[in-house]
Amino acid sequence: MEKIKAMEIVEQCEKELESIFKSIDKIALKNQEKVLNAFKEVSVQLTNFACSSGYGYDDMGKPKLCSVYARVFGTEDALVCPQITCGTHALTLPLFGILRPGDTLLSITGMPYDTIIDSITGEGNGSLKDFGIKFEIVEMNGNQIDINETINQIKKLNPKIVYIQRSRGYSARDALSAYYIGDIINQIKSVKPDVIVMVDNCYGEFTEDKEPTDFGADIMAGSLIKNPGGGIAPTGGYVVGRKDLVALAAGRLTSPTLGNEVGSYMASYYPYFQGFFMAPHVVAGALKGSLLLGCVLDKIGIESTPKAGEMTHDIIRSIKFGAEDKLVKFCQLVQSMSPVDSNVVPFPWDMPGYNDKVIMAAGTFVQGASIELSCDGPIRPPYICYLQGGITYEHVKLLAIATLEKLG
Ligand SMILES: *Cc1c(COP(=O)(O)O)cnc(C)c1O
Repeated sequence: MEKIKAMEIVEQCEKELESIFKSIDKIALKNQEKVLNAFKEVSVQLTNFACSSGYGYDDMGKPKLCSVYARVFGTEDALVCPQITCGTHALTLPLFGILRPGDTLLSITGMPYDTIIDSITGEGNGSLKDFGIKFEIVEMNGNQIDINETINQIKKLNPKIVYIQRSRGYSARDALSAYYIGDIINQIKSVKPDVIVMVDNCYGEFTEDKEPTDFGADIMAGSLIKNPGGGIAPTGGYVVGRKDLVALAAGRLTSPTLGNEVGSYMASYYPYFQGFFMAPHVVAGALKGSLLLGCVLDKIGIESTPKAGEMTHDIIRSIKFGAEDKLVKFCQLVQSMSPVDSNVVPFPWDMPGYNDKVIMAAGTFVQGASIELSCDGPIRPPYICYLQGGITYEHVKLLAIATLEKLG
């Protein structure tokens, strides 16, 4: 369609989304206040941005950063650092740190994210299974956790950890609200008060005014090249939660006697602080962008979730293309609209950690950062593309216009 027509549709969508955009602004304001207060309370100073070397005993940046995260997530402790390489790594730290041979891990949101499954059930690759840790799942009922079955399984299996994935990952369901997760945690703990509830919070941070840890999640992890890095943090991950559990995760990251006491960083910590400070605003822009795109796709008959105009609790939009060539074409459009590597044409490939071929568009400043506008899709029916991020709303808006021009 013509650009003028495309612009008209986009403006129409913005009108329709006015009230939901306002509620996103309110969430961003609350979260910005939360983050600002944390910075003030731990008194972040310019000197905290300095680099460190060797064992890092003189490192002033990391402990401050950990304190800021702990305050924002309302937890006893936090482990945040560049040495955590990605979200998968951050999630495996508490899993391997806490679980012991003979223990059971119970996922109640169906199969965990693709890259975690191999760490849990892989054969001979150093997985939890190799260490004699049992794994069971409770499938979800559409967008709901099957609480009755969860309670049955908890009584039957006596799991040490109950695992909840907040965001959709590569599944067709919606993300779970932190409030809803809180309700589930209450029900679980009323049956087994000592069970450890762990949450995969990837893509969920700052999408609501509360986080799962505000509602009793014992341990939670995520990636800094997603929401909490604000598009500025160059790498890293975080683990937040109960002090004893964070210590076990840190013991796994370095060694059991050293934990979070060691680790230096020769570059500045300032992007980690600045990124976290900007994250509430960046996430709000990404949420708005996702809603705009959902509305636009709806107008040209392309199905996506969350539904047009429906509030969402992660920054992902799943778009159902139904055919490989359409999925590939859209990913190539996203890549061509990127500030970096716009000349690159992505094709499906065998990525480490994934079981199907995957196509990814990520013309990002931070390599592979999915808080930046990016998309990916496993090459398997019904050929769903997962689009996420956008460090400015305007960038996603340009994609919405281009999508109408090219596919409308
Ligand atoms: C991205 C993601 C992960 C893994 O993070 P990586 O940084 O890709 O290793 C785990 N769980 C969910 C829900 C995710 O979205």
